[in-house]
Amino acid sequence: GATVIAHKTHKFDRDLLSNAALKTTEGLHKAGFEAYIVGGAVRDLLLNRTPKDFDVATDATPEEVNRIFRRSRIIGKRFRLVHVLFGDETIEVSTFRGSHLETEGNPKGDSKTTDSGRIIRDNVFGSIVDDAVRRDFTANALYYNPASQEVLDFHHGYTDIKAGVLRMIGKPETRYAEDPVRMLRAVRLSAKLGLKIDQATQAPIAKMADLLQDVPPSRLFDEMLKLFLSGHAMESVSALREQHLHHGLLPMLDVVLEQPMGERFVMLALKNTDDRILSGKSANPSFLFATLLWHEMLAAWESYKAEGQHAIPALHMAMSEVIATQAEKMAIHNRYTATMKEIWGMQPRFEQRAGKRPFGLLTHPRYRAGYDFLLLRCESGELPMELGEWWTEFANADGEGRTAMLQADT
Ligand code: ATP
Ligand code: MG
Repeated sequence: GATVIAHKTHKFDRDLLSNAALKTTEGLHKAGFEAYIVGGAVRDLLLNRTPKDFDVATDATPEEVNRIFRRSRIIGKRFRLVHVLFGDETIEVSTFRGSHLETEGNPKGDSKTTDSGRIIRDNVFGSIVDDAVRRDFTANALYYNPASQEVLDFHHGYTDIKAGVLRMIGKPETRYAEDPVRMLRAVRLSAKLGLKIDQATQAPIAKMADLLQDVPPSRLFDEMLKLFLSGHAMESVSALREQHLHHGLLPMLDVVLEQPMGERFVMLALKNTDDRILSGKSANPSFLFATLLWHEMLAAWESYKAEGQHAIPALHMAMSEVIATQAEKMAIHNRYTATMKEIWGMQPRFEQRAGKRPFGLLTHPRYRAGYDFLLLRCESGELPMELGEWWTEFANADGEGRTAMLQADT
């Protein structure tokens, strides 16, 4: 059974709850269903952090949820759920999931597991107890009922959170086999929330790391993007290395971090991103991935040039090659790769400081990203600081000043 945690114990700040989430649970309650705020949002509230998104769990089926809310739609195939929209907020509503172990011929739904135990379809519905047991960490399996203001805790998540521990529900080996991405989630959530990974949860990771090879590349990308944009990317990447989880995720983490210049560059880029996120700014994923793969790209570029290719065609071959190799492990969405190529493609142009060319570069739609990238290259020691400073000065100068700088250089 569940431990019931009353408001006087958990003392949630109700102002941190989203209105959309409250309207969603109210709507479901009025229609006679159970509904709880669940997962990361409850965990974050208990840690006195502002949740970034709200998920709701209910005993209503996706079709029933869809009928209750006018602005809603059913999404997903592997995991069907409903998006309910209020203004610009989207609440994810999922139906309580049942256990996979008793799914053969279960008329209530549909699920599928590979021979290695990996879950590839998860649409068997069940009770709240079933739903709690299939969540990943105890801290993520808390159910908050806004009507009673009580939290239901089936796996001692409350005690774990208060003790600062991230603990897998059930047998960690089995849970990682079902879904290897949980290993990445352990690293990411522990870095982001400052929770210590419990010993038994931690222990199997080293020997199970290779299972990540079988995860679809697009899913790995989504998870890595969350990791890099968590505001704790530096720590997360260090933890990935310690746990030997970085192999095969990004060629850059394999190769680049092993060379001092590459490591400096990547760590600077991650620090830069963390600083931006923690100060409330946005960070551009294209820029970030361009930095992560830059030293791979440089090496490929050098080898095409060594084969006798001209610099610019060699650059384009190198860019395509690096992105294609990367895609085999972890596919970077197309909408990002185009911008990555623009940022990379601009770099040789920063080294041309004569004639009309520098003026042209200033008007490039991605100039700012290209320039920021150049500065990181300078700071990491790849290029002389003087080059970055020249561009700073050139961009800030007026027409006459710019002309003078160009003459000074020729
Ligand atoms: P974040 O703050 O980064 O959003 P989160 O824990 O909310 O962290 P989500 O991906 O939003 O992560 O997932 C919502 C909830 O769904 C989790 O709290 C957890 O209960 C459950 N969940 C997510 N991914 C998994 C998984 N791979 N295996 C089991 N349960 C999961
Ligand atoms: Mg979440």
